[in-house]
Amino acid sequence: MAVSIPNSEFRIPNSSISLLGSTGSIGRQTLEVAELLGLNVNALTADRNISLLEEQVRKFRPAIAAVYDDSAARDFAVRVKDLPVRVLAGMQGLIEAACAEGAGTVVTAVTGKVGLKPTLAAIKLSRRIALANKETLVCAGGHVMKSALEHGAEIIPVDSEHSALFQCLRGELLRSVKKIILTASGGPFRGMDKAELKNATPEMALRHPNWSMGKKITVDSATLMNKGLELIEAVHLFEVPPEKVNVVVHPESIIHSMVEFDDNSVSAQLSVPDMRLPIQYALTFPDRLPSIIPELDLAKHRTLTFEEPDLEAFPCLALARETAGVQGTACAVLNGANEAAVELFLKGELSFYGIYEAVCSALSSIRNIAEPSLDDIINAGEEAQAFVLGMKR
Ligand code: MG
Repeated sequence: MAVSIPNSEFRIPNSSISLLGSTGSIGRQTLEVAELLGLNVNALTADRNISLLEEQVRKFRPAIAAVYDDSAARDFAVRVKDLPVRVLAGMQGLIEAACAEGAGTVVTAVTGKVGLKPTLAAIKLSRRIALANKETLVCAGGHVMKSALEHGAEIIPVDSEHSALFQCLRGELLRSVKKIILTASGGPFRGMDKAELKNATPEMALRHPNWSMGKKITVDSATLMNKGLELIEAVHLFEVPPEKVNVVVHPESIIHSMVEFDDNSVSAQLSVPDMRLPIQYALTFPDRLPSIIPELDLAKHRTLTFEEPDLEAFPCLALARETAGVQGTACAVLNGANEAAVELFLKGELSFYGIYEAVCSALSSIRNIAEPSLDDIINAGEEAQAFVLGMKR
């Protein structure tokens, strides 16, 4: 007997988006998904890659295009002067793009703490935030979640692990969560020890086995700081203490994270590793629509493996866990110092373990403000960045 499926019409809650950071890896994939779903794109922003931004603006015709870098913004305005697009610059430009009229969802795909102010501005307008900028929660998770609650803004994580957790937690009570299990691919240096990693170069770190991502996050995956930042992100998103967040290395990146409940039942979310899935989920939630990602064929994979993370070879993970438990500006310092240290590592001016050491020195030199204002948080991050960039090397 044929099963009849009701011809339900798919409903996308917010058919217009504003996309912050459209030229990066997540930004480009968001536009692919937006095109597939037929979404309107009301605003796009870029840091300084104006040739790609121009291409995107010509294709998606947003009302606003913002370029963070002032001089690149001036060049960009000249390039698109034949189009009816408002060109904006700097932080103010990003904020206006985040608040673009009619955009029900704001995708924050910028890298680093630059995402914080625009995200908060969009939250105040009760927009849905498809959050791909983990630094926003890492630095100011308390402020962001409180403001989202006040303004009724949904925060839907785009980070694959947090999207998985969000999916596993649907319909569950947070009080019955025993632990959150973040999966980590282990990055390009999995299985290597301290002696081997001492002289690891940026080229080696940038060869990620499973995910194709921006440079900053790829280096963070190599140090496991990325997993540390994700641990802090999870603490804020799901209101769990850091000691309830476990990390397990799962090199195949098929299980994107798991939740263990009080009855020892474990829920997991699986798919082929492809960021277009969590991006799409954040845009269509609570609906699920057909996706361009390939189907998962478990019989082909045959085995999924798991191991403990090596905290000695990858001390950044333990450092982030420790910092996650400190109330105040410490996480903003950790994040700011790490951003600067990764920048130096990529330039060849800092060694692989120099990243960890730089973050440690920033944390021990910069005073923690236990009950910070938003400005205290922003200043702490900048102070940490300046501290690391100014370190004697
Ligand atoms: Mg992730």
